Amino acid sequence: MPPVAASSPVPPSAPPASAPKREKSAPQKALEKMGLERDIDLALHLPLRYEDETRITRLRDARHGQAVQVEGVVSDSQVTLRPRRQLVVTLDDGSDTVQLRFFSFYPAHQKTLSAGQRVRVRGELRGGFLGREMVHPSFKAVDEDTPLAASLTPVYPTSANLPQNYLRKAVASGLARARLDEILPEAVLPPGLPSLHEALHFLHHPPPATPVLTLEDRSHPAWQRLKFEELLAQQLSQLQAQRERALLRAPALPLERGGLHERLLAALPFRLTDAQRRVVEEIARDLQRPQPMHRLLQGDVGSGKTVVAAMAAAVAIGAGWQCALMAPTEILAEQHFRKLVGWLEPLGIVIAWLTGSQKGKARREMIARVADGEAQLVVGTHAVIQDQVEFARLGLAVIDEQHRFGVAQRLALRSKMKPGPGLAEGDAGLEPHLLMMSATPIPRTLAMTYYADLDVSTIDELPPGRTPIVTKVFSDAKREMVVARIRDEVAQGRQVYWVCPLIEESEKLDLQNATATHEQLSQALPGCMVGLLHGRMPAAEKAAVMSLFSGGQMAVLVATTVIEVGVDVPNASLMVIEHAERFGLSQLHQLRGRVGRGAVASVCVLLYTSPLSDSGKSRLKAMAETHDGFEIARRDLEIRGPGEFLGARQSGAPLLRFANLEEDIGLVRQARRAAAELLDDHPGIAAAHVARWLGGKAEYLKA
Ligand code: ADP
Ligand code: MG
Repeated sequence: MPPVAASSPVPPSAPPASAPKREKSAPQKALEKMGLERDIDLALHLPLRYEDETRITRLRDARHGQAVQVEGVVSDSQVTLRPRRQLVVTLDDGSDTVQLRFFSFYPAHQKTLSAGQRVRVRGELRGGFLGREMVHPSFKAVDEDTPLAASLTPVYPTSANLPQNYLRKAVASGLARARLDEILPEAVLPPGLPSLHEALHFLHHPPPATPVLTLEDRSHPAWQRLKFEELLAQQLSQLQAQRERALLRAPALPLERGGLHERLLAALPFRLTDAQRRVVEEIARDLQRPQPMHRLLQGDVGSGKTVVAAMAAAVAIGAGWQCALMAPTEILAEQHFRKLVGWLEPLGIVIAWLTGSQKGKARREMIARVADGEAQLVVGTHAVIQDQVEFARLGLAVIDEQHRFGVAQRLALRSKMKPGPGLAEGDAGLEPHLLMMSATPIPRTLAMTYYADLDVSTIDELPPGRTPIVTKVFSDAKREMVVARIRDEVAQGRQVYWVCPLIEESEKLDLQNATATHEQLSQALPGCMVGLLHGRMPAAEKAAVMSLFSGGQMAVLVATTVIEVGVDVPNASLMVIEHAERFGLSQLHQLRGRVGRGAVASVCVLLYTSPLSDSGKSRLKAMAETHDGFEIARRDLEIRGPGEFLGARQSGAPLLRFANLEEDIGLVRQARRAAAELLDDHPGIAAAHVARWLGGKAEYLKA
């Protein structure tokens, strides 16, 4: 272990022993919060960069701007008050002198740095006004023969309350204790890489001569080994999930000639697009198999996914099974309900409606009708359907806007969605088929790694007759002009959405803002019905507002992001998004997708407030430049990184820390091959590797 510079103002206390239930210290809590609990977790916490304390540079040889370590004797040390209070120390190493400047310091520091003391100092050398100086260098008292660090000093990613020195010690002892024996057979390893043990020890404490660049750009073989290990764990858990699923059984749903799905097709008010036909066929093929379907239907906003879900439901119902359709919000669930009632009730299908706001007798009756099998299609919010409903014979579950559900929720769904007790004897133990729908496409690289266990169908074409949406970006100073535009639009019988900013910390502020905007617009647009919709309204009120708007009586709808997903009012032709810079790219795209649903030319106005951050700027630019959901998802990934993209924060899914899907695509391929080989020939090793890397989090990857 390298000596650690003792310069932090907070003296590092001992790293966590496995002490029993004593009150945890702040750094201990911080360690835990960062997920650094097991020895292996600490060992896998790798440095961000390194400091070179392995050599001493003579002041005379040091260049300006260089980070160096120097050693000398303090020739002068005093506190000056001008231009502000500071400790100024002159250090002499025999070749030259340098001034050390500290704007905050404790008496203990002054003592270490008093005249005549020998100290070792590390910092960036700068040309100051009165000669060379270092501002706030790290320092420690030394003797003439204090040894130098034997390796580069690691600097770890850390957090508030977790001093670097404390973390270093914790990592070093985790590394020393962790079991790092080689468990992977040589045959599956890419050639030329060090063992895990070697790689980790090397990366935590690289020897002095290591070219730091290969560490920092992670191209060094030690890094390659780590990345490979990580990718392998991830590919293993994916492949395992896939194989486990292949062992499950589901009802095979036959396609009868002249069956319900054909009657639905004939009754629809429009012809399916070619893309819709293709995905319906892909889904129907899955449904005929005795294994549960696990398919994602992706298609840009407005591409017509709902009718595809209806066709799938018709196949399931036609074969004598029940279907559940779940949406993330009540508004959306209700809209689906209406649409499906319109399409399927004339064909004699019984549809039940279930959401959180339904109470008492009505609710009990609905639940009973689902349980006894009378309700063939059940539409509602996911929470309700998952938590409170027992199906007689559930054959197909459809989740709309699946990206809104966390990974954990999807997992829960899988374990809860059992087909039900109404099964004939031979059908016991069958799992329902699962269809997920999303307008946020998964970029290819992510699909390969995170969603390897998912079959994907894509609708890559919009229904005919849509006019492209024109997107305009304006500063909030142009608000008046935008309101005038609303007036025009309404005068032509069109409808308008005004979306209020998202204020993450506070739902209350969100609401205030929406309410204020609602008043403002009501005044500015006399004689025109302006409605307000937000998440805190009672469901019945929400439904009433939505029905006024979709019925066309209400011209302008001021809303928070409750309308983000799925809402479908084809006559709406203008959308204004206030504080657009606060929204994520995918969210903006979803919002924009609420207009341009009919034949009318539509406009989306993005209002922003200066100053714009760089990422805000690039998001608005991306929105103005493209309407392609795939391109937007790609840029979103670029701007936010995969962690955010996958919504891992809320789901707790372990993401790749070391490997980069784009850069390390070669390693991804090798890991895939190795995963298949291990599962076939060495399942015990596969399990041990996954446990080492993912611990208890492996489950999440199966969602
Ligand atoms: P999304 O994929 O965003 O969920 P929807 O299913 O809400 O899209 O469909 C958007 C609109 O397009 C709806 O009004 C729907 O009825 C209509 N639609 C769907 N398919 C077609 C089609 N083939 N031809 C014409 N209109 C269609
Ligand atoms: Mg939809």
